[in-house]
Amino acid sequence: MNNLTKKVSELSKRRGFFFQSSEAYGGVAGFQTFGPEGAELKRNIEESWRNTFSRELGHREIQAPTIMPEPVFKASGHLDGFDDMIIECPECKSSIRADHLVEDNTEIEEAEGFSTEKIAEIIADHDLECSNCETSLTGIEVEDFNLMFETSIGPGNGQPGYLRPETAQGIFVEFPRLKEYARNQLPFGITQIGKAYRNEISPRKGLVRVREFTQAELEHFIDPDEDEPNLDKVQDVELKLYPVDKQGSGEYITKTVEEAVEEDIVHNWVAYYLGIAKKWYKEIGVDMDRFRFRQHQKGERAHYATDCWDAEAEIDGDWIEIAGFAYRGCYDLTKHHEHSREDFTIFKEYDEPVTKEKTVVQPDMGYLGPEYGGKAQKVAKKIGELAQNSPEEFEKEAVNVEVDGEKLEIPTDKCNFEVKEVTESGEHIIPHVVEPSFGVGRTVYTVLAHAYEEDEIDGEERRVLHLSREVSPTEVAVFPLMDKDGLGDKAQEIAAKLREKGFSVKYDDTGNIGKRYRRQDEVGTPVCVTVDYETLEDSPETVTVRDRDSTEQERVEISKLVDYLR
Ligand code: AMP
Repeated sequence: MNNLTKKVSELSKRRGFFFQSSEAYGGVAGFQTFGPEGAELKRNIEESWRNTFSRELGHREIQAPTIMPEPVFKASGHLDGFDDMIIECPECKSSIRADHLVEDNTEIEEAEGFSTEKIAEIIADHDLECSNCETSLTGIEVEDFNLMFETSIGPGNGQPGYLRPETAQGIFVEFPRLKEYARNQLPFGITQIGKAYRNEISPRKGLVRVREFTQAELEHFIDPDEDEPNLDKVQDVELKLYPVDKQGSGEYITKTVEEAVEEDIVHNWVAYYLGIAKKWYKEIGVDMDRFRFRQHQKGERAHYATDCWDAEAEIDGDWIEIAGFAYRGCYDLTKHHEHSREDFTIFKEYDEPVTKEKTVVQPDMGYLGPEYGGKAQKVAKKIGELAQNSPEEFEKEAVNVEVDGEKLEIPTDKCNFEVKEVTESGEHIIPHVVEPSFGVGRTVYTVLAHAYEEDEIDGEERRVLHLSREVSPTEVAVFPLMDKDGLGDKAQEIAAKLREKGFSVKYDDTGNIGKRYRRQDEVGTPVCVTVDYETLEDSPETVTVRDRDSTEQERVEISKLVDYLR
């Protein structure tokens, strides 16, 4: 473990930010518990994200289940392709993530998009060894490993289900309901903050790679021919960009959002969200000198995505992906439209009605129902699609469609196929999706690591978290100098009043005052208020207010404290 990582982990454990779960039973890698300070910090970050990415942009938030049935992941492609590369050590039997082994031990920065064969070749060329027992891994097969946790829904054999590996599918799958809610008008955005699960091959670095984590995702559904992002909102925001052609050189380019779009460096919708995200990260305390947006290499990017950028934060010399921004086209909704029985299109009205020849079918449900049971709707939908895409097929005695992998033959006279002249007021389109996807735990970890500092106060070493007030677990700590002579009562009274005014307040009367300051510095409390003997003597009454960062102290009248703190 590197220096800063070690220090942040130690502080997090000691002060209740996060720590290994179920340690009483030996723990299991990839699961972390947020302690009282960490849970508060995480909630504040989530709330701030919600304000920025949901409320302020006029989007709406949903909560979908974390377990979903198998057909969802068959349609989304996760069942067949949500894999990482694994290599097993022949000696100690450790499972190692093969692309990370390559990245950690060669000059290659990104190996995720490589094939298993290529990774095996690189391992052999560099004679890479097992990270646990140093046995050579040359010649050992590299395999794909599906990251989804499987479960069974219901008693007995039940039906297969999976813990969702991303919150996004919960939004895509509900699109038919959500579009009704949006009254069939594009664009609209849906957000979700919730748990996701991935059976990572080698969980590591505390919150960075875990098997259960929180994501904050936004799916913005747009009409690609009509909808433009409101770039005015972010046009002057400067982005530190690491485009594909610069990768490996360590050189960045700095462009405003407007320039990045005009010079065709970033897709306009993606650039819009990079601008909003950059402002947000700065606000919650991510150090902009240790932050960049990196473009995905071709192999890394999903084949359907037009443009993809990651937000990355540097910790201990490593760049960690903390969010992804992708223009996903119509891929996700098309997949669910094809595989499900629902309609994932939006009806788009023309300015003027248009008259044209159109192929129509009215499948005979009296025939399809008894013949295909629960699949009849899907069969009818496929017949409709076939009529639109290949009308010539209906010249034959029977037409062929494929439903759930099964090839079916339907007599043409049961389809009621016709070519008609129709006047249409609009057409059905499948919306495109812009997706900013954030890892909340990685954001918490970055905020902690970037806030961490060691300095010296009055010859004594201190550890301090310079957390922004927006996210710090406690805004104000209130102490009586000593818990006697009425100081405690006065301090309690002040704490109660501040809580009433909406501040998050911690009250502490244990140990000497210096220790109490240090404790608050270590959990990032921006100000401490101390009630001392002067408080009782002064008229009007005053308290000492100490600033975490400068450690300077000031006397403030109690009656003016709320305004002062605000
Ligand atoms: P992805 O769908 O892989 O692009 O992930 C979206 C975001 O989720 C990433 O940018 C990370 O911040 C976060 N994330 C992905 N995998 C993990 C993990 N195993 N542990 C913690 N956070 C993760």
